[in-house]
Amino acid sequence: MAIGGTMTDYESLLDRAREMIPKDISERSRWTMPEPDVLIEGSQTILRNFSDIVDAMDRDANHVYQYLLNELGTSGTREQIRIMFKGRVPPKRIKEKIVSYVKSYVICNQCRSPDTSFIKEARTTLLKCQACGATRPVRL
Ligand SMILES: [Zn+2]
Repeated sequence: MAIGGTMTDYESLLDRAREMIPKDISERSRWTMPEPDVLIEGSQTILRNFSDIVDAMDRDANHVYQYLLNELGTSGTREQIRIMFKGRVPPKRIKEKIVSYVKSYVICNQCRSPDTSFIKEARTTLLKCQACGATRPVRL
């Protein structure tokens, strides 16, 4: 590295790094969840595309299922790709709970990336972001 040129090289390196950030974020923000496909049938409510939603989140289906039951305060049965909730649950409420699950267990607080996974550290579980490396504790 030439003496005198060091600072400029470093500056241009930083500029390049900065340029890369917005591009990365705009790519991430294209990530979307499938709209919940909800059908109310008699006295039960069917979330027909549960497995699509879980696939998009890349989370454990049973964890998502238990979360929804708790949050909606109902019981249900999980079949291969769908959930049948007991009672008539407004589709809007189901969507709200899915969004709150994503906020709690999928999205990185720092950079909003959905590219995260759970890691176990001692007795706590952390949500680790693959994009920026941030971690935060989650309660499973
Ligand atoms: Zn992040």
